[in-house]
Amino acid sequence: MAQFNINTQYALGANEGSSQRTNNMFIILHETTNVGAANNAIYFKNNWSTTQTYVQYVIGDGGKIYQVGSDGYVAWGAGSYANANSPVQIELARTNDKATFQKDYETFVNFARYKAQQFGIPCTLDTGGKYDKGIKTHYWVSQNIWGSHIDPVQSYLYPKWGITQEQLAHDIAYGINGTSGGSTGGSSTKPSTPARNVVTVKNGPSTGIAGWNSKGEIVAGSNTTFVNGSSWQSAGIKIINGLPMYKVATDEYIPKKYTDQAGIITINAIKGIVAYDGNGNSISGTERTFTDFSKWQSPDSGVKVINGTIYFQVATNEYISAFYTIGGGNK
Ligand SMILES: [Zn+2]
Repeated sequence: MAQFNINTQYALGANEGSSQRTNNMFIILHETTNVGAANNAIYFKNNWSTTQTYVQYVIGDGGKIYQVGSDGYVAWGAGSYANANSPVQIELARTNDKATFQKDYETFVNFARYKAQQFGIPCTLDTGGKYDKGIKTHYWVSQNIWGSHIDPVQSYLYPKWGITQEQLAHDIAYGINGTSGGSTGGSSTKPSTPARNVVTVKNGPSTGIAGWNSKGEIVAGSNTTFVNGSSWQSAGIKIINGLPMYKVATDEYIPKKYTDQAGIITINAIKGIVAYDGNGNSISGTERTFTDFSKWQSPDSGVKVINGTIYFQVATNEYISAFYTIGGGNK
């Protein structure tokens, strides 16, 4: 998963902003109506209680991300229903400089996609109604739920930079790969997030499963995020407290045994992958057995580390490298 540098200098403190948790329905896109990201983040930080307005992130100043509100807690950006159902709302700050805009827009789109995937929300823009998950513009909220705002497309992206609703929807669906120096709003034409590394939480308690950090400690409050049926992009597999876990955030992991991969592995290698024996010797020809997307029983306790690489057991003396399984990080 892409890594983003988030500036938390202007983040609200523990006793600031709403303490109400959200449902994970929408990611809402806004624009600030004025130039600059840091100044808008500072304004939210200093005036949230008097203006009753703030969001989780402000993006701008050449692709910088400033956090104000906390993910998964209500922010005050789009009316009570939308606020209560949006774990993340994002403001795009204005600029008059084209190169700055290209970086801002790329980060805005890719970060919205990243947050959507994190919260199990599809990367569809402005589709369906108020009960349908997805990424939504503030304008869509005004049309379908409440309010009169028309941002960010009609107020800024189109009149200032020529980016239409259709272009934004396309970019939200497919992501943008390195447009810096390229054409304004240019985007890739193929999906950048194949399902090869997506795992879905399954068979956890109804209150959700805990996320763990690399030290083997529970991430406080994480269970409300990792609920049954939510899907997560995994950046790889790590053994924590003796169990294989998927990396779903910078230092946050969920146990394999509570996902759709519990007790099995799914091969993630287009040409198939060879198995190894317990001494780390490859077993030639096995790549014709362990073909792409084939599934194999593998006990979650049957993990072996050979020469520093994590392997899953698939037979008495046959092991598959975790990297070449779904969620293992191979792209
Ligand atoms: Zn707005």
